[in-house]
Amino acid sequence: MSNGISIRSRFKTGKPMFSVEFFPPKDEAGGKRMLQTAKVIEPYNPDFVSITYGAGGGTRETTMRFARLLKEEHGFEVMPHLTCVGHTRDELLEILEEFADLGFRNIMALRGDPPSGETSFSPVMNGFSYASDLVELIRNNFPDFGIGVGGYPEKHPEAPDLDSDLKNLRTKVDAGADFVTTQLFFDNQAYFDFVRNSRNAGITIPILPGLLPVLSMNQVKRFCKMCEASLPSDLEQALEKSEEKSHPEVGSMWALQQVKELLDSGCPGFHLYALNKSQSTLTILDGLTQRLRN
Ligand SMILES: Cc1cc2nc3c(=O)[nH]c(=O)nc-3n(C[C@H](O)[C@H](O)[C@H](O)COP(=O)(O)OP(=O)(O)OC[C@H]3O[C@@H](n4cnc5c(N)ncnc54)[C@H](O)[C@@H]3O)c2cc1C
Repeated sequence: MSNGISIRSRFKTGKPMFSVEFFPPKDEAGGKRMLQTAKVIEPYNPDFVSITYGAGGGTRETTMRFARLLKEEHGFEVMPHLTCVGHTRDELLEILEEFADLGFRNIMALRGDPPSGETSFSPVMNGFSYASDLVELIRNNFPDFGIGVGGYPEKHPEAPDLDSDLKNLRTKVDAGADFVTTQLFFDNQAYFDFVRNSRNAGITIPILPGLLPVLSMNQVKRFCKMCEASLPSDLEQALEKSEEKSHPEVGSMWALQQVKELLDSGCPGFHLYALNKSQSTLTILDGLTQRLRN
């Protein structure tokens, strides 16, 4: 694996991409879990890994630190996430320069969520209101960077309807995004419809489906509420029928079936929301060994 290559060039190979998302751990035990997962996926040679920014309490320093660790100790092509939350334009430029100096060449550009307790997003003075502003900043100042953006098969919760959300996605693409990674979804039809509607809206860049192997009924319900993703009744029933300790297995098998169907449909690959968990990630990758080799 080589570092510092724009991910957009990897999409051009036509080979299905595979990526894994980490989040910066909060304590030592979390750090061990994350590194264990990194070790487990290394032999599978992911095209890239990403690491979140700000979500769930991560900070600029922790994202930077763990992005470096994943790159330097595991040799992954790392795509750090960056959000507009709490940053002025100049601060964002400074962070991007730091990433560039450290050899990163790919950024997942996001607006970020409103801080907890707030219902709508307000930019800081001289900050950005939308991810498209951040995409434009990156494209104008770091033309060789690969830029990923978020897409929402079941609509972003704040958007009034799918059409306006797609129009806003198109703005991010026109600003210079190279590919879209989707929010999690449990029903592949949502992805197929989203891709079709995106193409009709003139969005031609690759759309990488994001999959979450669920760990428990509580977790899936929490995520579905937060992201407004639908929970297929078959998955809900399978979780209800199985014992609680078997939930991660049910979740991994569901995600594995989703990935198989998506790859069969010719999608450009898949992105795993691994949540730093090694076992569910391993179950999915083991189930795909043959396809990942081809
Ligand atoms: C793959 C992925 C990774 C993520 N990683 C992180 C992370 O690391 N850290 C984190 O905090 N969060 C993360 N998130 C969550 C994300 O920050 C939230 O979903 C956030 O609410 C929206 O971010 P965005 O970049 O999609 O915003 P935007 O694209 O700016 O969209 C936000 C809302 O504004 C609307 N909108 C956009 N442009 C306009 C416009 N010009 N006029 C009017 N409305 C507009 C959109 O339709 C949407 O409803 C991630 C999401 C995804 C899908």
